[in-house]
Amino acid sequence: MAKRDYYEVLGVSRNASTEEIKKAYRKLARKFHPDANPDDKDAEAKFKEISEAYVVLCDPEKRAGYDRFGHAGVNGQGFEGFGGFGGFEDLGGLGDIFEMFFGSGSRRRTGPEKGPDLKFDLEISLKEAAFGLEREIKVPRTESCGTCGGSGAAAGSRPKTCTACSGTGQMQFAQNTPFGRVVQSRTCDRCRGAGKIIEKPCPTCRGTGYVRRSRSIKIKVPPGVDNGSRLRLSGEGEAGKRGGPPGDLYVFIHVKPHRIFSREGDDLMCEINISFVQAALGDELEVPTLEGNARLKIPEGTQSGTVFRMKGKGVPHVDGYGRGDQHVRIQVVTPTRLTEKQKELLRDFGRTGGEQPRETGTAGDKSFFEKMKDAFMS
Ligand SMILES: [Zn+2]
Ligand SMILES: [Zn+2]
Repeated sequence: MAKRDYYEVLGVSRNASTEEIKKAYRKLARKFHPDANPDDKDAEAKFKEISEAYVVLCDPEKRAGYDRFGHAGVNGQGFEGFGGFGGFEDLGGLGDIFEMFFGSGSRRRTGPEKGPDLKFDLEISLKEAAFGLEREIKVPRTESCGTCGGSGAAAGSRPKTCTACSGTGQMQFAQNTPFGRVVQSRTCDRCRGAGKIIEKPCPTCRGTGYVRRSRSIKIKVPPGVDNGSRLRLSGEGEAGKRGGPPGDLYVFIHVKPHRIFSREGDDLMCEINISFVQAALGDELEVPTLEGNARLKIPEGTQSGTVFRMKGKGVPHVDGYGRGDQHVRIQVVTPTRLTEKQKELLRDFGRTGGEQPRETGTAGDKSFFEKMKDAFMS
């Protein structure tokens, strides 16, 4: 594959200043860095290409060679074998680039670190979701050891600074790469990154500085939460590392399905069966709500499938202002297994022309319906 022009690779002009070259490289390197593009061969090749261009162009001597003789002017000086250049400092600024990528990472590994977040699944009823609840939950988590204060050392002793890494927790090592010799760091073998050696471990935590504990935490679930709502309890997660703060606890709300109600936003839906007599004459129904039964008046001539709204009987809005409604869908049940008397009444009803829907009933009809009501409802 033909090598691309280094200036073109970095997208800078041939008389760009070192500062401009550095800037262009940083921008591209961030974009194509292997850490940002795991398992992406193209990005990796691109990163190599821009790194190579950068190494050459930000070194005045190599740049001059490249300007005069092109790639040959650099390769002739042994670009392929950068190890021969004798080190880090010679690489004209590559050091701070690697510092940018690897150095900052290693600092993060040795400094205080926030503990991991915890997840807790809480199953509650629809009523609890609607009106909120307070509950004590048991959360197993890692906490800083109380006996040794998290140091891991037994009483009367102290952790000693690791001599292998001088307490940094990192070992520096140099490596020859296609773009030169770079210094990288890895976790210290002796202290496993802690930077300290514990000679007399604390008996409670066996030197780890942490203990596993099931902790009771009181949580308050606000009214109006829904399935999938998430509560965050700051600082109730796993213990932090090296003096860092603990993580957070996330409580995920799971609302159990309700026997009667389904929920849509803050509205509740339910279905009520009524007889055709109730539908025809109208009635006052006992309807279940989240807070016990309530009365719902349905007018005479109610059709099956009609939905009545009970205002404010739904779920409270989670912001604390107002409530949703309850929607009651009426299902008219056609009677089966009629008695002979009931059949007789229905035949009478048919003969009066009652099978046709009417606007209003006459007094005669009413008494007829009342008779039916007695027959069907008693
Ligand atoms: Zn301890
Ligand atoms: Zn060490």
